[in-house]
Amino acid sequence: DTSIKSLPGLDPSKLSVTKTITPKELVPSEELVFGRTFTDHMLSIEWTASEGWLAPRITPYQNLSLDPATCVFHYAFECFEGMKAYRTADGSIRLFRPNKNMERLNKSAARIALPTVDGKSFTSLIAQLVQLDSRFIPDSRGYSLYLRPTLIGTQRTLGVGPPGSALLYVIASPVGPYYPTGFKAISLEATDYAVRAWPGGVGDKKLGANYAPCIVPQLQAAKRGFHQNLWLFGEDEYVTEVGTMNLFVALRDKETGKPELVTAPLDGTILEGVTRDSVLALARERMVPKGWVVSERYIRMAELAQASQEGRILEVFGAGTAAVVSPIRKISWKGELVDCGLKKDVEAGEVALQMKSWIEGIQYGDEEHEWSVKI
Ligand code: PMP
Repeated sequence: DTSIKSLPGLDPSKLSVTKTITPKELVPSEELVFGRTFTDHMLSIEWTASEGWLAPRITPYQNLSLDPATCVFHYAFECFEGMKAYRTADGSIRLFRPNKNMERLNKSAARIALPTVDGKSFTSLIAQLVQLDSRFIPDSRGYSLYLRPTLIGTQRTLGVGPPGSALLYVIASPVGPYYPTGFKAISLEATDYAVRAWPGGVGDKKLGANYAPCIVPQLQAAKRGFHQNLWLFGEDEYVTEVGTMNLFVALRDKETGKPELVTAPLDGTILEGVTRDSVLALARERMVPKGWVVSERYIRMAELAQASQEGRILEVFGAGTAAVVSPIRKISWKGELVDCGLKKDVEAGEVALQMKSWIEGIQYGDEEHEWSVKI
């Protein structure tokens, strides 16, 4: 449809900036709680089906005012991203693989009939917000500024159809290290009575609608003493994802004894994690030469349990923007506790530690890498 393609795209040169006259007091670093406090400003860009993307605005952080009939409230026209800005040792600020978040945002948006954006232009606008609010980024290792690009349908109608207007905004929240006192391995409950995603569904898109239904199973797991629930899929009980992380299993092959790092394939049911992709790329580059096999393949819960019984599980960990990696000690499954290979007094396996060190090294600029984008 050429009429849609010729609509104005996002134009960073049209940005207007209105600075706050009531700057917030900084919360002491050690008191930061994830997603609780926000910076002084936000970035907003409106879109309409007839005018395309309008002039971007940076304004003081403020409430939205929306008609109760706005389509986002009724039919969940909402998708979002999660990314971070890091302050490096030399004081500069960097984003980590922002192009990946832009690609994923556009895939999510397109699936729910919301407009897409030019990733480079949007990233440059995000960079300006981060610069303006950079005093909120603590300068110690492990701290960062969590960025939440959010896209909502804003058409005022109860009619079910493609939104004729949308709002793209970005808010920013200073965050501390996920594990302030060092790794603490978590335990999972494998959920077999509910599914997170299914073939042909939208589990690979970052839609708000994918998250609300995950809370009850998470509460159920917590009630039984587990930190998170592990999503299995189908009769074969494939291991898929955990909470807001992709899952990695390191195990030894039964025949060859070769170590293998496994994660679920991107078959449409798995969120395409930026951390997942980074772990895979680093494992292929730096672990394969040392004899590792790296696989994107299905792994059944039964295979994991059997490998555990045979002592072939080296370690299991989650991977996501929040924690980078999150080591897992055990998984409850069918009344059985599957041991994930960590020794008693050890909180993280070697691969998880190595990955955290490699990825943080890139994020905080200790290692120069194309993934780390200076702003
Ligand atoms: N799976 C789900 C369901 C998630 O919400 C997230 C967090 N975005 C991830 C995996 C990890 O993705 P990323 O590495 O991009 O943070």
